Amino acid sequence: EKASLLDVFDGDGQLADGSKLALLANVGGAKDAQEAAAANAQGVGLLRTEFCFLGNSTEPTHEDQVAAYKGVFDAFPGQKVVVRTLDAGADKPLPFLTDSTEPNPALGVRGYRTDSTTPGVLARQLAAIADAAAQSQALVWVMAPMISTPAEAADFAALCTTAGLKVPGVMVEVPSAALTSRHLLDRVEFASLGTNDLTQYAMAADRQLGPLAELNDPWQPAVLALIQATVEGAVAQAKHSASLALEDALPKPVGVCGEAAADPALAVVLAGLGVSSLSMTARALPAVAAVLRTVTQDEARRLANRAVAAASAAEARDLVRAGLPALSELG
Ligand code: PEP
Ligand code: MG
Repeated sequence: EKASLLDVFDGDGQLADGSKLALLANVGGAKDAQEAAAANAQGVGLLRTEFCFLGNSTEPTHEDQVAAYKGVFDAFPGQKVVVRTLDAGADKPLPFLTDSTEPNPALGVRGYRTDSTTPGVLARQLAAIADAAAQSQALVWVMAPMISTPAEAADFAALCTTAGLKVPGVMVEVPSAALTSRHLLDRVEFASLGTNDLTQYAMAADRQLGPLAELNDPWQPAVLALIQATVEGAVAQAKHSASLALEDALPKPVGVCGEAAADPALAVVLAGLGVSSLSMTARALPAVAAVLRTVTQDEARRLANRAVAAASAAEARDLVRAGLPALSELG
């Protein structure tokens, strides 16, 4: 029976009290997308588009890009696919976009920032995404990586509008974005927490350095506090816009697409912090779904508050795991 819990994911992400949480897949191309669809992912929460660019010495053509994106979209007709625009630089260098002589590439011109040094590549990518979306049935959302200010969010939203893409969003992977999510969400429709980079930047610890692995841990309470601040910003933004419009407004979606979402105990914490979706490698979906079904939203919230208040990553992890007996049952 234990084995069947882990083998089967029926596409339904929910807590023990029935509250819903979309469980989505991180994919890096059409083959991943087909596997994720076969694993019952409800959609794609992160399409890393670097697959289409890496290994090329020049920018891929419009036709090549459309075909590459359409290959992913076609695996999810009628479902959401969140496309992350090109995240070149730092751990993902690209010869025609990034400067390999930068002294601190992780703090350099990477992600959305390349639009100011090499204008045009992003607009052309958005045009290709829009064409691929128009030729498929997927519900396509787009988000920019490495957004640091509300002005960048507004500029990205304007580029999306020009391309005819109606649901622009931002990744929250820089502490400044987490702390200003309210203003970001005034300018775009959703946010997605990239906990890999958010951890690297919160802890000032290069994600590629093995000796810094203990710092580079999304259980670090400082990282959890930034996630909490991001969700609180979304709630504040909704309240403010509702009072202007004199009507109720639900907070705009705030998901998680970093590796943290694939850790079942951490997934419970993220649910307790109030995120609206979790996107992960498709392999992780069954275990995450199974553990989420064992806790109510209230229980998840209590565990999350204790984790945020912990003095170390180890303390946060231990106390949450101790509150989740289902973890040991699932092996
Ligand atoms: C992240 O930073 O958490 C993320 C999802 O993006 P990537 O790992 O591709 O930088
Ligand atoms: Mg990132």
